[in-house]
Amino acid sequence: MAYDIDMIKKVYAQMAERVGKAREVVGKPLTLSEKILYSHLWDVEADKAYGRGKDYVNFSPDRIACQDATAQMALLQFMQAGKKKVEVPTTVHCDHLIQAKQGAKKDLKRANETSNEVFDFLGSVSNKYGIGFWKPGAGIIHQVVLENYAFPGGMMIGTDSHTVNAGGLGMVAVGVGGADAVDVMAGMPWELKFPKLIGVKLTGKLNGWTAAKDVILKVAGILTVKGGTGAIIEYFGEGAKSMSCTGKGTICNMGAEVGATTSTFGYDDSMERFLRATDRNDVADAANEVREHLTGDDEVYANPELYFDEVIEINLTELRPHLNGPFTPDLATPISEMKEKAKENDWPINVDWGLIGSCTNSSYEDLTRAASIAQQALDKNLKPKSDFGINPGSEQIRYTADRDGLLKIFEDLDATVFTNACGPCIGQWDRSDRKGEEKNTIVHSFNRNFSKRADGNPNTHAFVGSPEMVAAIAISGRLDFDPTRDKLINEDGEEVMLDEPKGIELPTNGFEVEDAGYVAPMEDGSGVEIKVAEDSERLELLTPFEPWDGENLLGAKLLIKAHGKCTTDHISMAGPWLRYRGHLDNISNNCLIGAVNAFNMKTNFVKSQLTGEYGGVPDTQREYKEKKIPTVVIGDHNYGEGSSREHAAMEPRHLGVKVVIVKSFARIHETNLKKQGMLGLTFDNESDYDLIQEDDTFNFIDLKDFAEGKPLTVEIVHSDGTKDVIKTNHTYNSNQIDWYKEGSALNLIKKLNA
Ligand code: SF4
Repeated sequence: MAYDIDMIKKVYAQMAERVGKAREVVGKPLTLSEKILYSHLWDVEADKAYGRGKDYVNFSPDRIACQDATAQMALLQFMQAGKKKVEVPTTVHCDHLIQAKQGAKKDLKRANETSNEVFDFLGSVSNKYGIGFWKPGAGIIHQVVLENYAFPGGMMIGTDSHTVNAGGLGMVAVGVGGADAVDVMAGMPWELKFPKLIGVKLTGKLNGWTAAKDVILKVAGILTVKGGTGAIIEYFGEGAKSMSCTGKGTICNMGAEVGATTSTFGYDDSMERFLRATDRNDVADAANEVREHLTGDDEVYANPELYFDEVIEINLTELRPHLNGPFTPDLATPISEMKEKAKENDWPINVDWGLIGSCTNSSYEDLTRAASIAQQALDKNLKPKSDFGINPGSEQIRYTADRDGLLKIFEDLDATVFTNACGPCIGQWDRSDRKGEEKNTIVHSFNRNFSKRADGNPNTHAFVGSPEMVAAIAISGRLDFDPTRDKLINEDGEEVMLDEPKGIELPTNGFEVEDAGYVAPMEDGSGVEIKVAEDSERLELLTPFEPWDGENLLGAKLLIKAHGKCTTDHISMAGPWLRYRGHLDNISNNCLIGAVNAFNMKTNFVKSQLTGEYGGVPDTQREYKEKKIPTVVIGDHNYGEGSSREHAAMEPRHLGVKVVIVKSFARIHETNLKKQGMLGLTFDNESDYDLIQEDDTFNFIDLKDFAEGKPLTVEIVHSDGTKDVIKTNHTYNSNQIDWYKEGSALNLIKKLNA
């Protein structure tokens, strides 16, 4: 699978010096997170202590991973960068586009038919540009990364929010938008606000029914869905060392659910065991040589409140199993309190499905713990009351679990084993038992349980728990079943109890796989032809955006003045539009359709200054585009908050919007606009937002003098001929102004590479 041992050795060779230098400039002992961050600075040497939560810093990640839904636009953009190969080791994983319905074999066949075009495209681009390609069925991106590429002390980015899973193997691994990934693939730095640090001290030892999953379910209850925003969560203490590597992965995985930038653990014996079990003795040996740099300094963990911005302590011995939900992953309920809580809130008690899998909980250990419960159902003559669904995390896990008889245990209980892929976790689930929108309950071992996420039904109450708890609840069929004290009646009418789960951390006979599903790229891929059908609905090769003509922008018309919240979902909706993520023109038909028009408080209903008629935003904008009339979008506070998807900047750019003026931007979206060659401005005086009228024309009268730190003047001409002249600000530095001049950051990269 070609992990890059030379690259890993290089990272380790530099670590002592870089960590030492960082300790000097920071002037105190370092956390693990700081060691990784400072040893991955783009400018190589730390010359100052960065302000946590304040300074934007350029980093140099070691690896990139992309999943199939986000990789399409990322690779389409990379193809414009004029590079022969990616500059940083990269992999693409086909896991999101496979629907769970009838079981692995049939589902995979169907996915290969319906998304063949996309998989072929991703495969051939990977082959051409030196990217490792994991075929549909090979597994879920984050399990595959953990089993093959993650390494202690490394830094990676991935175009998926659960990239953070690799923290289980001691990485700083962060989910980013495609545009960020493309920069790094093309050899540019990756910018991140230096994170704050939250320390979680784990004491005691997990026991009985309590699993690693319960640690993060508890942390989510404490921090809530926003509590980790802008921070790295670093776990330490004896309790951390006592847990398996994949258990640590589960905890880091769900750090995304508290908004954390990422989570991580220091290198320990469990990680060494995992590296050796996954055939990476050389990585374990190399890590052992720099062990002291792969964990926080002793003084930090002895007095964590002096070094972290916030400290949480959890005693694993006392921790009890939890179920979190419904509708939000931070609503934490100890299983012992579920009876009252469910009654109080009128949550449906009968459980329809127990789903085990996702990148969060599909390790070998997870399957063995869940199977030890399932086996008891067979032994004690219990018939499961709920349906069972299993998604193994990778083909390696599936093959090994099958060899070791684990899957047979579930199959003997009539479970459906779905493809090694995301499936129900991302709504790729053709659920047959409920077609209407009745209130119902499911339990799963995934990470997210937002309304409609698994099956599209807003009345499905989804609860998140450990795989063994999901197994127990699925057998009982009841949400309020507490296996630590409740009895079940078996098919013979006898009362029985389930014994505590038993797990096997790593397969006794080692991992095994016949075909892991990996395709290595050609050494020289220059001859590989990328084929995209002219009439394809799902893929479209990108045309470079036009460079700036160097003139002032005059006569721009208002497209929409957005009222209130305007997130990336309002600008570029997800759901059914996922299908068009690789086709810029088709997905542009969702451009700003969720934004509320400030003049009539309706969505997707704006006035055309060409006809005086009202219509949808994309259609109206396409008319302006056809007539080559530039347009402006006006927004409120925190415009573009939400995901980092670059489509929210590319779509308006593609349709001919030239400028976005807002009260304030969400930073990532502002950067995305800059990267795509758009002008993103903020009102100097916020109340100028109120001056904007429906028929306004905008003249940017000093754009010719566009320069770093210099505000721009905008003349607003109203339909009655009156004018307002306002000042707007921007945050473009000279390099970003070059992006604007060239039409996009990619155009500039291409020019520099020519
Ligand atoms: Fe995302 Fe779920 Fe797939 Fe994990 S399993 S990568 S959370 S969709």
